[in-house]
Formats: sequence, structure tokens, C-alpha cells
Amino acid sequence: MPIKEAKYIWMSGEFVPWWDAKIHVLSHVVQYGSGVFEGIRSYDTPKGPAIFRLKDHLKRLYNSAKIYRIEIPFSLEQLNNATKELLKKNELKNSYIRPIVYRGYGTIHPDGSEVKVEASIIAFDLGKFLGDKGVNEGIDVMVSSWRKIAPDTIPSFAKADGNYLNSQLAVMEAHSYGFNEAILLDNFGFVSEGSGENIFVVKDGVILTPPVSSSILEGITRDSVIKISRDLGIEVRYENMPRELLYVADEVFFSGTAAEVIPIRSVDNILVNNGKRGEITRLIQEKFFKIAAGEEDTHNWLDYVNV
Ligand code: PMP
Repeated sequence: MPIKEAKYIWMSGEFVPWWDAKIHVLSHVVQYGSGVFEGIRSYDTPKGPAIFRLKDHLKRLYNSAKIYRIEIPFSLEQLNNATKELLKKNELKNSYIRPIVYRGYGTIHPDGSEVKVEASIIAFDLGKFLGDKGVNEGIDVMVSSWRKIAPDTIPSFAKADGNYLNSQLAVMEAHSYGFNEAILLDNFGFVSEGSGENIFVVKDGVILTPPVSSSILEGITRDSVIKISRDLGIEVRYENMPRELLYVADEVFFSGTAAEVIPIRSVDNILVNNGKRGEITRLIQEKFFKIAAGEEDTHNWLDYVNV
């Protein structure tokens, strides 16, 4: 996915030109992946650009940092304001926002707790992550031969740089076989999530999703989907999912900031139902995109940039 560069990047308190946003090659994060980050979207609305659940994403960033004993040298309020300022300066509407907090230069020891913690926020234009077609027609996925990181190895609750080595292995494998995405099973063999998305199954009118004990990232979009579903009067349950549930489900879909809400058309080349987007998936998508477009915001999820 090519990056559409913007004008400025926020780096530890300053707005620097895009190509000047550099760090030392021996930074701890480059050596050991010691960074935590977020992926956030802003949407163009009649009241100007609005950031989707900005505070919730920043809270998760602070929690990710806490797990890794990283002290963010800025307050949540400062990062909140910096994010909005960045969008204004870059004149962005539909954007992807990536705050990153990372251990900088100063040691070659894996214990980086003595080196300076730095923070950056990057924001740029982003369209549909898995293609416009996927949103309506669904995508084809495979169950990866790679297992998801186990609970006592790398904590999946932290959105940390290093977690995505596991994601990379799975998604590269899936792409090499011609699939759009991968689904990973957890350490116990139950369905965990996609390489960068949470997963939902619809069976007999009930929505099922793996519990937090299945080594998932607790997605903000996952939470939004759960709340939207309950608003629609649909029951949502957290359940361990055997792989074959994906084959016999009525509907399967992914949720994530980049992917938004996207139907899964097939798993391991087995069609989900008749291979067409299901009605419950469609209803949730419709509600989600209405909220994002600023047409309704029943849960106060939109944070307007220009107020
Ligand atoms: N799981 C993983 C591994 C992810 O990278 C993401 C994307 N951040 C998600 C789930 C979905 O989380 P969210 O809805 O907060 O973007």
C-alpha cells in the first residue's frame, strides 16, 4: 500500500517537514521493535474532519506503553491536541493517523528502559484498505499455518511494533497463496483474529466473537461493532471459536480501523454461506459508515478537528 505523503509530521512537540522526520538507525526501536503505536481514522463530515474515537485510541496507546514500562513524555491531552493540529496543518479529511511512541538512541542492550522515549504522529490520506470491492463483495481469507502469539510470550493487548512480525508472517503467507488476508488461531487452536483485524461470526441470528483470552487486540472497531449490534437488537456473545465454525457460519466479517467493517466471502476456499455479503454484516456496515460520515453519532464517537 503506497503512502501518500503529507506536509508535516509531529515529532516530540514540533511539526517537521515530512522528509525531515528521521531517527537514528541505532535507535532501540530499530534494533528490538520497542515501540507502541496506534492506527486511527479521520472522516470527512459536514462539520469538517472528525477523528473516530481519538481518546479511546490514545488510552490504548498509554496502556500499550504501560505494559512495556514505557513512559510517554507527553500527556494524553497533548497528544490529543497535537493530532488535531496535525490534521489542520496537513489539510487532511479522510486520513489515517499513526501515533508512535518508541525507545530512542542510547544502548544496544535489550533493556531499553534507560534510553529516551520519543513520540511522533503521522497522518496521511487513506482510502479503503482492502479495496472498494471488498467492502461490498467480501474478501477471501485463509487460516494461517502460523499461530498467534501466545499469552505468556508477547502480550496481544499491547499494540506493539514487534507483534506485527507475527502478523507479517501470516499475511505474507496468505498473499503468497493469493488470499487477501489471514486468520490466525490462538495458542489453544481457537480462532484469534486477522493479521490486523478482529473477527466476527454470525450464526442463527447471533453474533459471536473471540474473547480477549484468545490473544486478540481489543479493537476499538470491535467495540464499536458490538455496541452497534446491540443497538440493532442483535445478541453478541464472546466465545471460543473452533476453526470449522468459520466454514459453517451464516456470515463472517472483519473489523478494524484500516479495514473498517468488511465481509469475508470465503475461508480456505470454502464459501461462507452463498459467498454473498450477509444481511447482518450489511446492517452493521451501514450504521458504521453513517456514524463515520457524521450523519448520526449516537455514541459520541466523532471528535471534530475544527472545534
Ligand atoms: N487486531 C490487530 C492485530 C490489529 O492490528 C488491529 C488494528 N489496530 C485490530 C485487531 C483492530 O483494532 P482497531 O479496531 O482498534 O483498529
